[in-house]
Amino acid sequence: MTTIAVIGAGIVGLSVSHALRARGHSVRLVDPEPPGEGTSFGNAGLVANYATAPMASLETLRQLPAMLARRDRSIAIDPGYTPALANFGWRFLRAARPASFARHKADLVRLIDQAIAGQHALLDELDELGGEALYRANGCLQVVRDGSCSASALEAKAATKRADGVACEALAPADVRGLEPEVSTEGLGGALYFPETRSLRDPLSLSRRLYRALEGDGFTHVAARVEALAPLATGGWRLQAGETRLDVERVVLCAGIANNGLLQALGIRLPVVSERGYHVMLETPLALSRPVGWLTHHFYATPMQEGVRLAGTTEFCPPGKAPNARRWSRLADWGATLFGRPVEVAHEWVGVRHSTPDGLPVIGQVPGHPGLIVAYGHGHLGLTLSAETGRLVAGLVAGEQLPNHARALSPQRFLGHR
Ligand SMILES: Cc1cc2nc3c(=O)[nH]c(=O)nc-3n(C[C@H](O)[C@H](O)[C@H](O)COP(=O)(O)OP(=O)(O)OC[C@H]3O[C@@H](n4cnc5c(N)ncnc54)[C@H](O)[C@@H]3O)c2cc1C
Repeated sequence: MTTIAVIGAGIVGLSVSHALRARGHSVRLVDPEPPGEGTSFGNAGLVANYATAPMASLETLRQLPAMLARRDRSIAIDPGYTPALANFGWRFLRAARPASFARHKADLVRLIDQAIAGQHALLDELDELGGEALYRANGCLQVVRDGSCSASALEAKAATKRADGVACEALAPADVRGLEPEVSTEGLGGALYFPETRSLRDPLSLSRRLYRALEGDGFTHVAARVEALAPLATGGWRLQAGETRLDVERVVLCAGIANNGLLQALGIRLPVVSERGYHVMLETPLALSRPVGWLTHHFYATPMQEGVRLAGTTEFCPPGKAPNARRWSRLADWGATLFGRPVEVAHEWVGVRHSTPDGLPVIGQVPGHPGLIVAYGHGHLGLTLSAETGRLVAGLVAGEQLPNHARALSPQRFLGHR
């Protein structure tokens, strides 16, 4: 049994803790906040089996100028964040080259394949603990509107997904309405339907359920913010978290974008940047039975316990900057168009995704720092990849090499070796 500090109690840190406890290790989960209240609180709730293409591609680069020029753009780059984006930016451009894109996509397809099986098994295990059902298993839709995609182009997209091993059908407008009568017919061109996608009824319930499963012998939650970590001469690590000093054998960094500051203090710089996303919870009752996304605007309307959540948009900006209220109104406007009626907003939220240039998370041993493991950079897929992240970290702690499908995730790829 090893004593391991896991820093960060989001869905990634909780899943890592769960996998480590399952192997009999003693876990100190360090976070000043209650579990799951960071970015993991506000996501769209999709176990995104369909997300098999990294963002860095020639297609994205071609579309970017037009996307940035739109008045109702879903993507924004804060000029004040440009210096932090420099290292990310040039790597993003390199990752978009066709050969690199093909390699990263193949890595992502293999990772998603493993991750979905693990995430479904974890959801089923937690569901068996009792309480409200955590998820729906009736798929999701991605609609196209306003002539943005012809029927044949939609069929080609569906065929690409099927070639990636993902169940997917191209639907005509009448079939979309058959599944989700709330979706407005006006301008509706059809949809991609992913029948095997699962979605959460409430992301916070998943974090809380995982936390409950952790409680007991061998688990402690240290409610403090880690300010510094340093290697001990005798091996292991010393953490300073407020008044608390913690000596442990291993550390796993799962603090999201805050990992950057902790790593930089050790002289390590990884090109992981803050890519914020927003959501609004609707007061307007909508009888949706599964998540409905709108491809052009990259957002989802997900039915959750408290109502429908409209979640998405991409904003590269400093993590602590005040939210841009126009993004909330934009989400509500898109929702009103998608459902063909005005919508009332109950709550608004903003959170920080931690994103890498190649669209793959950073999971692995930090070179030159024995006993220090990182797990972040999950971008749009932290929920989807969380159980697999836990499994990989537990393997690393046991001294196993990353398996083939996960070799591409090592931090070494950004530090000069792969
Ligand atoms: C709008 C939006 C929609 C999304 N939709 C989806 C989706 O449908 N499917 C999907 O798979 N993913 C989705 N994501 C991405 C997903 O939500 C994230 O990848 C995931 O929540 C990241 O989890 P995390 O545990 O790494 O980070 P977090 O949940 O942010 O947790 C990090 C934790 O670290 C703690 N922390 C920070 N600094 C310190 C410190 N110094 N010491 C101790 N603790 C610290 C914080 O308090 C926090 O609790 C979405 C994201 C957004 C923004």
